[in-house]
Amino acid sequence: MASIQLKNVEKSFGSFVGVKDVSLDIADEEFLVLLGPSGCGKTTTMRMIAGLEHPTGGEISIGGMVVNDIDARDRDVAMVFQGYALYPNMSIYENIRFPLRMRKVPKDEHDSRVRRAAEMVELGPFLDRKPGAMSGGQRQRAALARAIVRQPQVFLMDEPLSNLDAKLRASMRVQIKHMQRDLRITTVYVTHDQIEAMTLADRIVIMNRGVIQQIGTPDEIYSDPANTFVAGFIGSPPMNLIEGKAQDGNFSAPGIHVKCPSSLSGPITLGIRPEDCKIDGTELRGTVYGVEPTGDITYLTVRTGDKHIEVKAARDFRAPIDSSIQIGFDQNRLYFFGQDGMRVRE
Ligand code: ATP
Repeated sequence: MASIQLKNVEKSFGSFVGVKDVSLDIADEEFLVLLGPSGCGKTTTMRMIAGLEHPTGGEISIGGMVVNDIDARDRDVAMVFQGYALYPNMSIYENIRFPLRMRKVPKDEHDSRVRRAAEMVELGPFLDRKPGAMSGGQRQRAALARAIVRQPQVFLMDEPLSNLDAKLRASMRVQIKHMQRDLRITTVYVTHDQIEAMTLADRIVIMNRGVIQQIGTPDEIYSDPANTFVAGFIGSPPMNLIEGKAQDGNFSAPGIHVKCPSSLSGPITLGIRPEDCKIDGTELRGTVYGVEPTGDITYLTVRTGDKHIEVKAARDFRAPIDSSIQIGFDQNRLYFFGQDGMRVRE
């Protein structure tokens, strides 16, 4: 059993707090993704789990045991970083075998374990090659095989796909997910790529400025954002956030009028996702600012007051720039946030 617990974990660098009061329960076999913008503290959080950084506060447990004072090499975690860090003079076979030699695993097990790990990442035919004679994707798979060969209790992966091109990233995503399902190893995965997070995670932890903003399944994070940060971070383009005023069951902002719960009053931020806006309707009046056909969908930008509202329109939608346009909002998909940025529910 390798569940992981973080209790009120903090990491200060001098007077700067990089990770603030982080509490997390990661279940055995869970695939947990730490997601957030650059500098939000995700790598530091992962490095503390690995034992590469020492927390300045709080407690970290792996498999029910507090590990604050246990060295990285004694924590039984395997890490995969964005750089592959393979030994260039060793064959792929020797690279994958390396952790078994380091950990003094009995020699008669080496060959079968190396080959099984290589099979899992489809590198069976490449074992005799040197890393220099491999593509970026193959090298990254070799780094994964080297991590899985010793069957650690925990996998820690820090942006392992960020050096790969978009197509390879997509296929590696599927491969990593498969591998984790087969091996059933608790995995913490750091990324700033929301597609990676949405497709890989059992649960996502969204961080900003060292603080957890929300923990939830990809569906929960997308359809039930806790605050304007999460709403404005997830989605492509993300949720439109419109500041306005609520009064007597109506929300208004320049060019925008919608019904809202009568319990709301005063300054409120309205949230509406681009796919929940439709051409024609009464909620928004504005002018066409941009029309971007992409093949399967057309992105429309509408200008109203000093705001730009993003709309996902049908593939064949076209309209002249600066022409007047009306947009409807799906009434069941409106979100409201208070002045503190937190979601307001009826
Ligand atoms: P990125 O996606 O850019 O890697 P991140 O979310 O992983 O970002 P961290 O690397 O965890 O962010 O850094 C969190 C904050 O702590 C950042 O503001 C960073 O500058 C700061 N920080 C990290 N390591 C140190 C250090 N050794 N000394 C001082 N500040 C640090």
